[in-house]
Amino acid sequence: MSLLVVGTVAFDAIETPFGKTDKIVGGAASYIALASSYFYKHLSLVSVVGDDFPASFLDTLKSKGVDLTGLQIKKGEKSFFWRGRYHNDMNSRDTLDTQLNVLESFDPIVPDNCKEVDFLMLGNLMPLVQQKVLDQLTKRPKLIVLDTMNFWMDIAMDELMKTLAQIDVLTINDSEARQLSGEYSLVKAAQKILAMGPKVLVIKKGEHGALLFNKEEVFFAPALPLEDVFDPTGAGDSFAGGFIGYLAKTQDISFENMKRAIIFGSAMASFTVEKFGTERLLNLTDKDVQDRVQEFIDLVQFDISLV
Ligand code: AMP
Repeated sequence: MSLLVVGTVAFDAIETPFGKTDKIVGGAASYIALASSYFYKHLSLVSVVGDDFPASFLDTLKSKGVDLTGLQIKKGEKSFFWRGRYHNDMNSRDTLDTQLNVLESFDPIVPDNCKEVDFLMLGNLMPLVQQKVLDQLTKRPKLIVLDTMNFWMDIAMDELMKTLAQIDVLTINDSEARQLSGEYSLVKAAQKILAMGPKVLVIKKGEHGALLFNKEEVFFAPALPLEDVFDPTGAGDSFAGGFIGYLAKTQDISFENMKRAIIFGSAMASFTVEKFGTERLLNLTDKDVQDRVQEFIDLVQFDISLV
Protein backbone atom coordinates (compact mmCIF):
# COMPACT_ATOMS: atom_id res chain seq x y z
CA MET A 1 0.00 0.00 0.00
CA SER A 2 1.47 3.31 -0.98
CA LEU A 3 0.90 6.71 -2.54
CA LEU A 4 3.23 8.33 -5.05
CA VAL A 5 3.06 12.10 -5.57
CA VAL A 6 4.62 13.70 -8.64
CA GLY A 7 4.73 17.45 -9.26
CA THR A 8 6.66 20.65 -8.80
CA VAL A 9 8.62 21.53 -5.69
CA ALA A 10 9.32 25.16 -6.28
CA PHE A 11 9.75 28.78 -5.38
CA ASP A 12 6.78 31.12 -5.71
CA ALA A 13 6.44 34.88 -5.47
CA ILE A 14 2.88 35.90 -4.76
CA GLU A 15 0.95 39.14 -4.81
CA THR A 16 -2.54 39.38 -3.36
CA PRO A 17 -4.61 42.41 -2.33
CA PHE A 18 -3.38 41.66 1.22
CA GLY A 19 0.34 41.51 0.63
CA LYS A 20 3.27 40.36 -1.37
CA THR A 21 5.95 37.73 -0.81
CA ASP A 22 9.46 37.34 -2.13
CA LYS A 23 10.49 33.82 -3.08
CA ILE A 24 8.78 31.38 -0.77
CA VAL A 25 8.49 27.63 -0.93
CA GLY A 26 5.63 26.36 -3.08
CA GLY A 27 5.06 23.95 -5.89
CA ALA A 28 2.13 21.66 -6.56
CA ALA A 29 3.79 18.58 -5.05
CA SER A 30 4.76 20.43 -1.86
CA TYR A 31 1.13 21.25 -1.13
CA ILE A 32 -0.12 17.82 -2.20
CA ALA A 33 2.41 15.96 -0.05
CA LEU A 34 1.78 18.13 3.01
CA ALA A 35 -2.01 17.84 2.71
CA SER A 36 -2.07 14.09 2.11
CA SER A 37 0.40 13.42 4.93
CA TYR A 38 -2.40 14.21 7.41
CA PHE A 39 -4.28 11.14 6.15
CA TYR A 40 -1.71 8.70 4.86
CA LYS A 41 1.88 8.03 5.84
CA HIS A 42 3.21 5.73 3.09
CA LEU A 43 4.00 8.60 0.82
CA SER A 44 6.76 9.04 -1.78
CA LEU A 45 7.66 12.03 -3.92
CA VAL A 46 9.07 12.22 -7.44
CA SER A 47 10.24 15.72 -8.33
CA VAL A 48 13.28 17.90 -8.99
CA VAL A 49 14.83 20.97 -7.37
CA GLY A 50 18.05 22.93 -7.80
CA ASP A 51 20.68 23.22 -5.10
CA ASP A 52 19.19 26.63 -4.25
CA PHE A 53 16.25 24.90 -2.56
CA PRO A 54 16.15 25.02 1.27
CA ALA A 55 17.12 21.72 2.90
CA SER A 56 14.96 22.72 5.87
CA PHE A 57 11.77 22.32 3.82
CA LEU A 58 12.91 18.91 2.59
CA ASP A 59 13.52 17.95 6.22
CA THR A 60 9.98 19.07 7.04
CA LEU A 61 8.60 16.78 4.33
CA LYS A 62 10.71 13.91 5.69
CA SER A 63 9.42 14.58 9.19
CA LYS A 64 5.88 14.17 7.82
CA GLY A 65 6.83 10.71 6.55
CA VAL A 66 7.42 11.68 2.90
CA ASP A 67 10.06 9.47 1.25
CA LEU A 68 12.29 11.69 -0.90
CA THR A 69 14.27 8.96 -2.71
CA GLY A 70 12.66 10.08 -5.99
CA LEU A 71 13.53 13.77 -5.49
CA GLN A 72 16.43 14.82 -7.71
CA ILE A 73 18.61 17.71 -6.49
CA LYS A 74 20.47 19.25 -9.44
CA LYS A 75 23.85 20.76 -8.60
CA GLY A 76 24.42 24.29 -9.91
CA GLU A 77 20.86 24.59 -11.21
CA LYS A 78 17.88 26.68 -10.15
CA SER A 79 14.54 25.41 -8.88
CA PHE A 80 11.30 25.99 -10.78
CA PHE A 81 10.00 29.52 -10.15
CA TRP A 82 6.48 30.88 -10.54
CA ARG A 83 5.20 34.40 -9.92
CA GLY A 84 1.49 35.16 -9.74
CA ARG A 85 -0.82 38.03 -8.92
CA TYR A 86 -4.37 37.60 -7.65
CA HIS A 87 -7.21 39.89 -8.65
CA ASN A 88 -9.37 41.57 -6.02
CA ASP A 89 -11.88 38.70 -6.05
CA MET A 90 -9.04 36.30 -5.05
CA ASN A 91 -10.62 33.72 -7.36
CA SER A 92 -8.70 34.61 -10.49
CA ARG A 93 -5.02 35.29 -11.00
CA ASP A 94 -2.45 36.17 -13.64
CA THR A 95 0.76 34.27 -14.07
CA LEU A 96 3.45 36.95 -14.31
CA ASP A 97 6.45 34.67 -14.73
CA THR A 98 7.14 30.96 -15.11
CA GLN A 99 10.82 29.93 -15.08
CA LEU A 100 11.07 26.21 -15.73
CA ASN A 101 14.80 26.01 -14.77
CA VAL A 102 15.40 22.41 -13.54
CA LEU A 103 12.08 21.33 -15.05
CA GLU A 104 13.31 22.01 -18.56
CA SER A 105 15.39 18.85 -18.65
CA PHE A 106 13.59 16.89 -15.94
CA ASP A 107 13.67 13.16 -16.50
CA PRO A 108 11.66 11.63 -13.63
CA ILE A 109 12.98 8.41 -12.14
CA VAL A 110 10.45 6.35 -10.24
CA PRO A 111 12.24 4.48 -7.42
CA ASP A 112 11.93 0.68 -7.62
CA ASN A 113 9.76 0.52 -4.48
CA CYS A 114 7.21 2.87 -6.12
CA LYS A 115 6.75 1.02 -9.40
CA GLU A 116 3.75 -0.87 -8.05
CA VAL A 117 2.04 1.90 -6.06
CA ASP A 118 -1.67 1.67 -5.32
CA PHE A 119 -2.36 5.39 -5.56
CA LEU A 120 -0.71 7.82 -7.97
CA MET A 121 -1.14 11.58 -7.82
CA LEU A 122 0.17 13.23 -10.96
CA GLY A 123 0.33 16.84 -9.80
CA ASN A 124 0.58 19.80 -12.12
CA LEU A 125 3.62 19.34 -14.35
CA MET A 126 4.41 19.06 -18.05
CA PRO A 127 2.23 16.28 -19.48
CA LEU A 128 5.27 14.55 -21.00
CA VAL A 129 6.82 14.14 -17.55
CA GLN A 130 3.51 12.84 -16.17
CA GLN A 131 3.53 10.35 -19.06
CA LYS A 132 7.12 9.27 -18.35
CA VAL A 133 6.10 8.42 -14.80
CA LEU A 134 3.20 6.30 -16.04
CA ASP A 135 5.53 4.49 -18.45
CA GLN A 136 7.82 3.37 -15.60
CA LEU A 137 5.13 1.67 -13.53
CA THR A 138 5.12 -2.11 -13.68
CA LYS A 139 1.56 -2.47 -12.40
CA ARG A 140 -1.44 -0.21 -12.97
CA PRO A 141 -2.26 1.67 -9.76
CA LYS A 142 -5.68 1.22 -8.19
CA LEU A 143 -6.28 4.93 -8.80
CA ILE A 144 -4.54 7.57 -10.92
CA VAL A 145 -5.48 11.20 -10.24
CA LEU A 146 -4.14 13.98 -12.47
CA ASP A 147 -4.11 17.72 -11.97
CA THR A 148 -3.10 20.17 -14.68
CA MET A 149 -3.55 23.83 -15.66
CA ASN A 150 -4.17 26.19 -18.56
CA PHE A 151 -0.41 26.73 -19.03
CA TRP A 152 -0.02 23.13 -20.26
CA MET A 153 -3.26 23.27 -22.26
CA ASP A 154 -1.79 26.26 -24.11
CA ILE A 155 1.55 24.68 -24.97
CA ALA A 156 1.19 20.89 -24.75
CA MET A 157 -2.42 19.95 -25.52
CA ASP A 158 -1.57 16.88 -27.63
CA GLU A 159 0.59 15.31 -24.91
CA LEU A 160 -2.02 16.20 -22.31
CA MET A 161 -4.78 14.45 -24.29
CA LYS A 162 -2.64 11.32 -24.52
CA THR A 163 -2.09 11.28 -20.76
CA LEU A 164 -5.76 12.02 -20.00
CA ALA A 165 -6.73 8.83 -21.81
CA GLN A 166 -4.89 6.80 -19.15
CA ILE A 167 -6.10 8.26 -15.87
CA ASP A 168 -9.05 7.76 -13.52
CA VAL A 169 -9.70 11.19 -12.01
CA LEU A 170 -8.96 14.65 -13.42
CA THR A 171 -8.98 17.73 -11.19
CA ILE A 172 -9.10 21.14 -12.89
CA ASN A 173 -10.71 24.50 -12.22
CA ASP A 174 -13.80 25.83 -13.97
CA SER A 175 -12.02 28.03 -16.52
CA GLU A 176 -9.68 25.14 -17.38
CA ALA A 177 -12.68 22.82 -17.83
CA ARG A 178 -14.16 25.36 -20.25
CA GLN A 179 -10.85 25.68 -22.10
CA LEU A 180 -10.35 21.92 -22.35
CA SER A 181 -13.88 21.20 -23.58
CA GLY A 182 -14.75 24.35 -25.50
CA GLU A 183 -18.08 24.39 -23.61
CA TYR A 184 -19.30 27.14 -21.29
CA SER A 185 -21.80 24.96 -19.44
CA LEU A 186 -19.87 22.95 -16.85
CA VAL A 187 -22.33 20.08 -17.24
CA LYS A 188 -21.63 19.87 -20.97
CA ALA A 189 -17.92 20.42 -20.33
CA ALA A 190 -17.89 17.51 -17.88
CA GLN A 191 -19.53 15.14 -20.37
CA LYS A 192 -16.99 16.06 -23.05
CA ILE A 193 -14.04 15.71 -20.68
CA LEU A 194 -15.26 12.36 -19.36
CA ALA A 195 -15.28 11.16 -22.97
CA MET A 196 -11.53 11.97 -23.16
CA GLY A 197 -10.61 9.21 -20.69
CA PRO A 198 -11.09 10.09 -17.00
CA LYS A 199 -13.90 8.19 -15.28
CA VAL A 200 -14.35 10.95 -12.74
CA LEU A 201 -13.91 14.70 -13.04
CA VAL A 202 -13.51 17.24 -10.24
CA ILE A 203 -14.12 20.86 -11.21
CA LYS A 204 -12.75 23.26 -8.61
CA LYS A 205 -14.53 26.60 -8.34
CA GLY A 206 -12.45 28.37 -5.70
CA GLU A 207 -14.63 30.04 -3.09
CA HIS A 208 -17.66 28.50 -4.83
CA GLY A 209 -16.73 24.93 -3.94
CA ALA A 210 -16.13 21.91 -6.14
CA LEU A 211 -18.18 19.63 -8.37
CA LEU A 212 -17.60 15.89 -8.66
CA PHE A 213 -18.85 14.21 -11.84
CA ASN A 214 -18.99 10.74 -13.25
CA LYS A 215 -21.02 9.87 -16.34
CA GLU A 216 -24.26 9.39 -14.38
CA GLU A 217 -24.00 11.54 -11.25
CA VAL A 218 -22.93 14.89 -9.93
CA PHE A 219 -22.10 15.92 -6.36
CA PHE A 220 -21.27 19.33 -4.91
CA ALA A 221 -18.97 20.26 -2.02
CA PRO A 222 -19.09 23.86 -0.80
CA ALA A 223 -16.06 25.91 0.14
CA LEU A 224 -16.09 27.10 3.72
CA PRO A 225 -16.93 30.82 3.99
CA LEU A 226 -13.76 32.08 5.69
CA GLU A 227 -13.21 35.33 7.48
CA ASP A 228 -9.69 35.76 6.12
CA VAL A 229 -8.35 34.55 2.81
CA PHE A 230 -4.76 35.67 2.42
CA ASP A 231 -3.38 33.59 -0.42
CA PRO A 232 -5.24 31.08 -2.61
CA THR A 233 -2.00 29.62 -4.00
CA GLY A 234 -1.88 25.89 -3.53
CA ALA A 235 -5.57 25.58 -2.68
CA GLY A 236 -6.13 23.27 -5.65
CA ASP A 237 -3.11 21.15 -4.78
CA SER A 238 -4.06 20.93 -1.11
CA PHE A 239 -7.51 19.87 -2.26
CA ALA A 240 -5.97 17.14 -4.41
CA GLY A 241 -3.71 16.04 -1.52
CA GLY A 242 -6.62 15.77 0.91
CA PHE A 243 -8.71 13.99 -1.72
CA ILE A 244 -6.19 11.28 -2.62
CA GLY A 245 -4.82 11.02 0.93
CA TYR A 246 -8.29 10.22 2.23
CA LEU A 247 -8.93 7.68 -0.56
CA ALA A 248 -5.59 6.00 0.15
CA LYS A 249 -6.31 5.91 3.88
CA THR A 250 -9.73 4.32 3.37
CA GLN A 251 -8.65 2.17 0.39
CA ASP A 252 -12.09 2.77 -1.10
CA ILE A 253 -12.35 4.33 -4.57
CA SER A 254 -16.13 4.18 -4.96
CA PHE A 255 -17.98 7.32 -6.08
CA GLU A 256 -19.68 7.41 -2.66
CA ASN A 257 -16.30 7.57 -0.93
CA MET A 258 -15.08 10.19 -3.40
CA LYS A 259 -17.95 12.38 -2.16
CA ARG A 260 -16.39 12.20 1.30
CA ALA A 261 -12.91 12.66 -0.13
CA ILE A 262 -13.82 15.99 -1.78
CA ILE A 263 -15.01 17.27 1.59
CA PHE A 264 -11.63 16.35 3.11
CA GLY A 265 -9.94 17.97 0.09
CA SER A 266 -12.00 21.12 0.56
CA ALA A 267 -11.08 21.18 4.25
CA MET A 268 -7.35 21.05 3.45
CA ALA A 269 -7.75 23.80 0.84
CA SER A 270 -9.56 25.97 3.39
CA PHE A 271 -6.52 25.81 5.68
CA THR A 272 -4.02 26.64 2.94
CA VAL A 273 -5.67 29.93 1.94
CA GLU A 274 -5.59 31.26 5.50
CA LYS A 275 -1.85 32.02 5.35
CA PHE A 276 0.74 32.69 2.65
CA GLY A 277 2.37 29.69 0.96
CA THR A 278 2.53 26.35 2.73
CA GLU A 279 2.68 27.87 6.24
CA ARG A 280 -0.79 26.87 7.42
CA LEU A 281 -0.32 23.24 6.38
CA LEU A 282 2.85 22.74 8.37
CA ASN A 283 1.52 22.33 11.91
CA LEU A 284 -2.08 21.16 11.83
CA THR A 285 -3.26 18.57 14.32
CA ASP A 286 -5.67 15.73 13.61
CA LYS A 287 -8.18 17.60 15.75
CA ASP A 288 -7.82 20.73 13.60
CA VAL A 289 -8.66 18.65 10.54
CA GLN A 290 -11.59 16.90 12.23
CA ASP A 291 -13.03 20.18 13.53
CA ARG A 292 -12.74 21.72 10.09
CA VAL A 293 -14.55 18.82 8.46
CA GLN A 294 -17.27 19.15 11.11
CA GLU A 295 -17.69 22.79 10.03
CA PHE A 296 -18.35 21.56 6.50
CA ILE A 297 -20.91 19.08 7.77
CA ASP A 298 -22.66 21.78 9.83
CA LEU A 299 -22.62 24.14 6.86
CA VAL A 300 -24.72 21.93 4.62
CA GLN A 301 -26.77 19.83 7.01
CA PHE A 302 -30.49 20.64 7.07
CA ASP A 303 -33.79 18.87 7.67
CA ILE A 304 -36.49 19.06 5.09
CA SER A 305 -39.61 16.98 5.00
CA LEU A 306 -41.20 16.83 1.58
CA VAL A 307 -44.83 16.15 2.16
P1 AMP B 1 -2.64 25.99 -7.34
O1 AMP B 1 -2.81 27.34 -6.70
O2 AMP B 1 -3.16 24.87 -6.49
O3 AMP B 1 -3.17 25.96 -8.72
O4 AMP B 1 -1.09 25.71 -7.49
C1 AMP B 1 -0.09 26.66 -7.24
C2 AMP B 1 1.28 26.02 -7.35
O5 AMP B 1 1.47 25.54 -8.68
C3 AMP B 1 2.37 27.01 -7.09
O6 AMP B 1 2.99 26.69 -5.86
C4 AMP B 1 3.33 26.91 -8.27
O7 AMP B 1 4.67 26.69 -7.91
C5 AMP B 1 2.82 25.75 -9.07
N1 AMP B 1 2.81 26.05 -10.51
C6 AMP B 1 2.53 27.23 -11.11
N2 AMP B 1 2.63 27.12 -12.45
C7 AMP B 1 2.98 25.83 -12.69
C8 AMP B 1 3.23 25.09 -13.89
N3 AMP B 1 3.15 25.65 -15.09
N4 AMP B 1 3.54 23.78 -13.75
C9 AMP B 1 3.61 23.20 -12.53
N5 AMP B 1 3.41 23.84 -11.38
C10 AMP B 1 3.09 25.15 -11.45
